[in-house]
Amino acid sequence: MDDTVGTECGVFAAIDFKQNPIFPYIYWGMRAQNHRGHQSHGFLTYDTKFNVHRGLDLIPKIKASDIPRWLSRLPGHVGIGNVRYTTSGRLNKEALIRGTQPVTVETDKVKLALSFNGNIVNTIRLKKELCKTFPCFSYDCDAELICRNLAVELMQGQDLHSAVKTCINEVEGAFSVSGITHEGELFAFKDPYGLRPLSTGCNPEGNICAFSSETVGFDINGFDHGFEIQPGEFVKAVEGNFERKQIVVPKRKALCAFEFAYFARPDSKLNGSYVYEVREGFGKNLGREYADIVKNSDVIFSLPETSDDAAYGLHEETGLRWERGTRRHRYVTDRAFILLSQERYSTINRKLNIVDHRISGRNLILVDDSIVRGDTTRVVVDKVRKFGAKEIHLFITFPRIIGPCFYGIDMATYGELIGSTKTPEEIAKIIGANSVNFQSIKGFVKATGMKKEDLCFGCATGEYPTPLAQRLANWMRKRFESGHKETGRLYEIDVENIT
Ligand code: SF4
Repeated sequence: MDDTVGTECGVFAAIDFKQNPIFPYIYWGMRAQNHRGHQSHGFLTYDTKFNVHRGLDLIPKIKASDIPRWLSRLPGHVGIGNVRYTTSGRLNKEALIRGTQPVTVETDKVKLALSFNGNIVNTIRLKKELCKTFPCFSYDCDAELICRNLAVELMQGQDLHSAVKTCINEVEGAFSVSGITHEGELFAFKDPYGLRPLSTGCNPEGNICAFSSETVGFDINGFDHGFEIQPGEFVKAVEGNFERKQIVVPKRKALCAFEFAYFARPDSKLNGSYVYEVREGFGKNLGREYADIVKNSDVIFSLPETSDDAAYGLHEETGLRWERGTRRHRYVTDRAFILLSQERYSTINRKLNIVDHRISGRNLILVDDSIVRGDTTRVVVDKVRKFGAKEIHLFITFPRIIGPCFYGIDMATYGELIGSTKTPEEIAKIIGANSVNFQSIKGFVKATGMKKEDLCFGCATGEYPTPLAQRLANWMRKRFESGHKETGRLYEIDVENIT
């Protein structure tokens, strides 16, 4: 529950072949996925032109009296939506507004709209090349790079398949994309590693086809789940169905393992499994892996809400009581990273309440999903200690994070990650716990039901699935270890020319 980590984006897109207004479905599909991006949101529909609404912060509630106004501003039977947390582009307010998705390109020859989830690694080269065709191109988000890259190919007369194929071959990174052409066609595609989730769904009558980052986007609309789009696959919605084409040979599947531990909603399905069931498996594994600590503990606590399912699994495995002694203040939604650092401590305190009367004199297992910077964990441990806990043992479902993420998770440098230089024993000392116990990668993989080689564990192993990211990681690590100041966000680094 490290609140200082932001995720990348969420996508929902749909088309109604009976030509009914699509906006309500896009709205609810995005509302179900607001956890994937809090900084901005956007909706785009198509009738004979692109109609767009973009805004900062959370998706607003729509009063019944306002529905006609929204429908008249966003008419059309096909649409895409996005929620975004910025992991690329500039960070000032104007840039955030300009970087809000969906993005569009409209030239004499081509009109294209796109919603994107992920992060591009070779930004500098792509931007330089695109500036030749779009001289006023001011880069504000990776979605723009993909959208313009596709537009260039289409302007040169390529068809959509070929344009996407060229784009996938030129862009390195994580990208799960959905878009609309100027003819109102709805399509989606994924990078050749399938780092970010994106799947299909349809309404039971079969006239609405949709794409969603998480399956909760379908559930909220009453749609049936379809298939997960495969790495390097292009999918087009056609008359109540999907046309699939493997346009690039997948390099290897590398779904982000962190999605299971932290980002995805527990009631979403990833690779066919409910995330909450996978998290229960994490708790069971932790119980088995650290049986000695369990033997000497009195009670399980968890940090809501991403750790609750693992705590339940741990309780089932061990029989140890899971005490629901940590509660979130439901309507305190400010994210700690936006606030001034000196406010962080009190913000975390404001968000999380700990019920104290069963803590004193007991040995506690505290379950959390991950330790990134360690700020939040330190505050919580401190608070629990003040309530008189005898021993505090942290059980962490995601393996120790030792390196940055280049694929859309806001962990940009080695220096900010407590696990990049500290052992579990050292981390325990810093955050004031008796021990810190990370789930093994083997146990984690087993609980997902996937093969290790089909998951990305780059931030936990230092082995990244894509070549440029690996090169960048090695270069950054070397510089970090020799005392160089780290620059932060990736878009500032010309990855292909580092030596
Ligand atoms: S590096 Fe870590 S956070 Fe990033 S995609 Fe891979 S597993 Fe996910």
